[in-house]
Amino acid sequence: MSGDREPIQVIGGGLAGTEAAWQIAQAGWPVVLHEMRPQRQSPAHHSAELAELVCSNSFGALSSDRAAGLLHTELRQLRSLIIATADTHAVPAGGALAVDRAVFSQQLTQTLASHPLVELRRTEVTQIPTTGITVLATGPLTSPALAEDLQRLTGLEYFSFFDAASPIVMGDSIDREVAFLASRYDKGEAAYLNCPFDREQYLAFWQALCRAEQAPVKDFELDTAKFFEGCLPIEELARRGEDTMRYGPLKPVGLFDARHGDFRAPENRAKRPYAVAQLRQEDKTGQLWNLVGFQTNLRWGEQKRVFRTIPGLEQAEFVRMGVMHRNTFINSPQLLQPTLQFRDRPTLLAAGQLTGTEGYTAAAAGGWLAGTNAARLALGLESLALPASTMMGALFAFITSASPKHFQPMPPNFGILPPLATRIRNKRERYGAYRDRALADLQAWQTQLESSAAIALSV
Ligand SMILES: Cc1cc2nc3c(=O)[nH]c(=O)nc-3n(C[C@H](O)[C@H](O)[C@H](O)COP(=O)(O)OP(=O)(O)OC[C@H]3O[C@@H](n4cnc5c(N)ncnc54)[C@H](O)[C@@H]3O)c2cc1C
Repeated sequence: MSGDREPIQVIGGGLAGTEAAWQIAQAGWPVVLHEMRPQRQSPAHHSAELAELVCSNSFGALSSDRAAGLLHTELRQLRSLIIATADTHAVPAGGALAVDRAVFSQQLTQTLASHPLVELRRTEVTQIPTTGITVLATGPLTSPALAEDLQRLTGLEYFSFFDAASPIVMGDSIDREVAFLASRYDKGEAAYLNCPFDREQYLAFWQALCRAEQAPVKDFELDTAKFFEGCLPIEELARRGEDTMRYGPLKPVGLFDARHGDFRAPENRAKRPYAVAQLRQEDKTGQLWNLVGFQTNLRWGEQKRVFRTIPGLEQAEFVRMGVMHRNTFINSPQLLQPTLQFRDRPTLLAAGQLTGTEGYTAAAAGGWLAGTNAARLALGLESLALPASTMMGALFAFITSASPKHFQPMPPNFGILPPLATRIRNKRERYGAYRDRALADLQAWQTQLESSAAIALSV
């Protein structure tokens, strides 16, 4: 099959690995795609097919002025196999791109298996190959043996088995008339946005939280969830007593609104808040803010309903909901370059949920870039990073430059894109402008890439 060309190894035949293997083969290089199913099943997969959708059959909003839709559009422009197959097997789903899941995965399995440059090997890989070019794409439920080897390679502290994340909201949807910027006891620069409660507001919030509906925990996650006793969901803190949150993440001490004068003055004492919810900046430009200590297992609709009763968050736009679930991911800000190559070993690449992107379409996007770059390395070409103004480029720039200390997986969203040159107040128009800029920049990038390839061929 491969002559004297050493095949690239892609480990994991999920959304990311399938796209990566296809891009490598389409670039004319042989590839071995390792998938452990059906020989060994993950706790969430049920079939032997490649790119199985483990839960919902939806790839998110279709419209290109929505974050998921923009990512689909970019991937269509880049000839992604996953998105082309999703388009072919789409089912009616209102404004979303949803697919007939069985036919979608069967079609992808057949397409890969019949490609002359793809060898599909049904084996569990337990050790990362030490030579050659490899793409790791084993997903949120990476098998334990490989996870152990990856931990050894990356270092224990750069590896997570569990995602206990707080919701993230768009900065411009926080009411700054209510929320104030301050750090506790005015230490260092004012780094937190603080949402102050009076007693009545706090009690209403506490009661709403105690009554809110939980998302079901999967059987295979129960043990891991117990293991994380030290990182309790906010609703569990609420259930432990009326004041438990006020002695935990909502403690009001040392936080004062400078607009009310010197907080040490006795006449200002009465203005001190009864409780405070804090938001910490998540990105360099301050477009994304993370609700500190609000990891939660509530249903997504319930999170929006209850957290919007926090003073200042009435109009909050959520870009990521809080979660507590099993999710294997590496500390990409420490380990990866925006090309998805490991910093210390550029012939090793990673893609998909393992890198801390979130969702099916983001996994396909990671597979596209890691596969493209693996093939380019084999062909002796420079590896690529996408323009930061595209949703793909912004996502990979974010996961490789976020704060390593607080790193949590990120779905595609407009908050990670660089701000526009001019401020557009209307949200729909603003997102349309992000879309127009992203697609124009992607087109220019592709044209330049194709013309430099043509010049290389002609010399
Ligand atoms: C329970 C659950 C529900 C989810 N629901 C959704 C949802 O509704 N919508 C959504 O967008 N996202 C959902 N996700 C996130 C979802 O996993 C990702 O969006 C997507 O599947 C990630 O693609 P991936 O290619 O990174 O991983 P996967 O699609 O999981 O692919 C990884 C593949 O690697 C294989 N593998 C693992 N270890 C080895 C090994 N050692 N050797 C060989 N093969 C191996 C696995 O069998 C699997 O086929 C869910 C995740 C979980 C765990």
